[in-house]
Amino acid sequence: QSILGTHEDIRMFTDEIHEAIRYSAYIEQEVRKSLAEDKFYLLYLPVYDAQVNQIVGAEALLRSSLDSLSGLSPQVYVTVAEKTGLIREIDRMVIGKSLKALESVSLPDDFTISINISSQELLDTTFIERFEEAVNASSISPSQLRLEITETSFVDLNQANTCMLERLRSFGCRISLDDFGTGYTSFNHLKNIPVDEIKIDRGFVNEMDEYETGVIIQSMITIARAFKYDLVAEGIETQLQLKRLREMGCVYFQGYYISMPTQLSDVIDLNDRLKSKDLLLLGVL
Ligand code: C2E
Ligand code: MG
Ligand code: MG
Ligand code: MG
Repeated sequence: QSILGTHEDIRMFTDEIHEAIRYSAYIEQEVRKSLAEDKFYLLYLPVYDAQVNQIVGAEALLRSSLDSLSGLSPQVYVTVAEKTGLIREIDRMVIGKSLKALESVSLPDDFTISINISSQELLDTTFIERFEEAVNASSISPSQLRLEITETSFVDLNQANTCMLERLRSFGCRISLDDFGTGYTSFNHLKNIPVDEIKIDRGFVNEMDEYETGVIIQSMITIARAFKYDLVAEGIETQLQLKRLREMGCVYFQGYYISMPTQLSDVIDLNDRLKSKDLLLLGVL
């Protein structure tokens, strides 16, 4: 056996590649079908403000009711959609559906909806026109919207895209840096990028018991405070995580402990329950 591997190794390797190609072709086909048959829908993950004990926003999360896609993370088909260009159609649909959902419920004027925007879309120079057009055609104010961009896509940003973010901000939207700490943004890079909010990735919250992770989280909190960013902790699953992050100075929280992704109309119920205080957080506030 040579270091290059046996013929058998190579055959298994190419089989795996073929299998991966077949799988993405299949996902692509199901994404097309989901778009054509209007099988995509959104669920909303509430954002809890511990300072006022209220839900102050929600993040739109993509779902499909097609059997083939319903059990998969949107990350899987979003990735395929990004490679095939279908993501533009998805993003357009997500923006349209979020605006409609927000129009159809009665929420406080300062309640914000966060929309995940893929990096591909961000790099598309026609995005901003399409986006502004959609928002202007609705009754929603841009100030009710946050656009979530992953840290990885920030790294690809050149001067022109940074201007685009500025334009989105002058339009009135807020920019949110998703999955913070998992990509390659240097602190110095943060200085040059227009951001209003950073989201601590779920991975950090998950491991916050580790001393080192605790230190990293504390640094993010310090930076957010100094740079005047809103800071959201993602993936809160226990009361203890909420309590400890609250003590560390974090104000905004998302996670299954607070609520699973749900209908936007249910968010109002959740707020009513928080008013009468029978829910959670008792040890926190
Ligand atoms: P993300 O934007 O970071 O969204 C947060 C993900 O973490 C969601 O997964 C959410 O359900 C999950 N999550 C939140 N809290 C908890 C928790 O306490 N425990 C656990 N175990 N999970 C939690 P989801 O919905 O599977 O989405 C995965 C990713 O797919 C998103 O990550 C986002 O990058 C992408 N995505 C979702 N919807 C869209 C969309 O409409 N457009 C685009 N372009 N991407 C989307
Ligand atoms: Mg997000
Ligand atoms: Mg995230
Ligand atoms: Mg994530």
